[in-house]
Amino acid sequence: MSDYKFFKQVNRAFDAAAKYSRYDRGLLDQIKICNNVYHITFPLERDDGTIEVIQGWRVEHSHHKLPTKGGIRFSMTVNEDETMALAALMTYKCAVVDVPFGGAKGGIKIDRTNFSKAEIERITRRYTYELIKKDFLGPGSDVPAPDYGTGAEEMAWILDTYRQLKSDINAEACVTGKPIPQGGVRGRTEATGRGVFFGIREACNDKHSMEEVGLETGLAGKTFVIQGLGNVGYHTAKYMIEGGAKMVGVAEIEGSIYDPDGIDLEELMTFRKETGSILDFKNTKKMKDNTAVLEAECDILIPAALENQINEKNAANIKAKIIGEAANGPTTATAHNMLKEKGKLILPDSYLNAGGVTVSYFEWLKNLSHVRFGRMEKRFEEGSYRKILNVIENSSDRTFTEEEMKELAKGADEYDLVDSGLEETMINAFEELNELRKKHDIDLRTAAFLSAIEKVGVMYEQMGIFP
Ligand code: GLU
Repeated sequence: MSDYKFFKQVNRAFDAAAKYSRYDRGLLDQIKICNNVYHITFPLERDDGTIEVIQGWRVEHSHHKLPTKGGIRFSMTVNEDETMALAALMTYKCAVVDVPFGGAKGGIKIDRTNFSKAEIERITRRYTYELIKKDFLGPGSDVPAPDYGTGAEEMAWILDTYRQLKSDINAEACVTGKPIPQGGVRGRTEATGRGVFFGIREACNDKHSMEEVGLETGLAGKTFVIQGLGNVGYHTAKYMIEGGAKMVGVAEIEGSIYDPDGIDLEELMTFRKETGSILDFKNTKKMKDNTAVLEAECDILIPAALENQINEKNAANIKAKIIGEAANGPTTATAHNMLKEKGKLILPDSYLNAGGVTVSYFEWLKNLSHVRFGRMEKRFEEGSYRKILNVIENSSDRTFTEEEMKELAKGADEYDLVDSGLEETMINAFEELNELRKKHDIDLRTAAFLSAIEKVGVMYEQMGIFP
């Protein structure tokens, strides 16, 4: 077990919360353990004809609910320990927001920038085949989604591979985060970032929380620094800015930048696309290395990249009063304690980034029910769909045909349902955790673990043990 560093970190936080639960050691161990750990290796024929062996994992952490659920990441950080830790976090995350899945995670140890698109497709399809062979994929058993380094395109390949090998009427529900025509749901791409925004907004609107950290109530006017401008980071920053916050710093692989007067997100995205880097973006100060800006002056620090970014080396220097964990496991257990000592408010990953899996749940339900989300049909007959479309039409420089309108109404309706469901989920979970932390005088991470332990524990207790 001692080799499992990240998994150990997760279990340290679990143990801190378990003290407040009524369960004995045996049941707690039953919750903590990873049920299935699958290490996969397979050969890839590269475009130039050479052979390269690829390593991957899929871990199903908890079967207290089925299917198990969690993303697949493509990164050089992937290993067994990381996948186990992330799978465990998925279990707790789903429990915190009452999404009825067990936790899982998958990963392939590659730097995707070294492979062509065709090679990435072959890797994805072969990995999928290996999962199917061992029963690690299916609408009722284990359902992957995008994670760091993957997106809708890979999910479409996973679905197609599954369809080639299985005749399953529910095939579409074997993976989430798909493109819309493949059974994806509107709002899934931006869901994690949107959820992060809702969570931070709730915390900023909570008078008691803001008094604790000595900040004014409300999101407007608050400054933030973000690490990572991938799918999660970009959307988080976008909604934070729309909500009135100011982005003053950005960290990316190539370095970090800071401007106390605010950084224009869209201009920065274009600049990075053109130059391949965020460095030397107008008016910004280049920091000494790629994590230096995490220690810069701001109200809210949002790590939205990989794990262990806030650790014993930089925790003491962090000036932000609020840490919003958009990434999974960005703060080590020691760093967490150091930040807590200094009175920081940490919004934990298992709550804050749960928007992704929440909307994955909506997508999965949509696929299983074989219907379209929304009340569009009715609205279309009544003509009330036009209200939604006025907004779209007003912001466009052309008019739409009846058919186009029908399509747009369908999209707007589904998006509306998904977004309101996500918002409600994040508001309710914040209230639940905030109550729990006041009740036991604990921090929000401990409250999130405690909430998850209680919910998963009850399931195991009632189920009994087979045979
Ligand atoms: N990869 C995302 C996460 O870490 C989403 C998982 C899912 O939707 O299943 O939460």
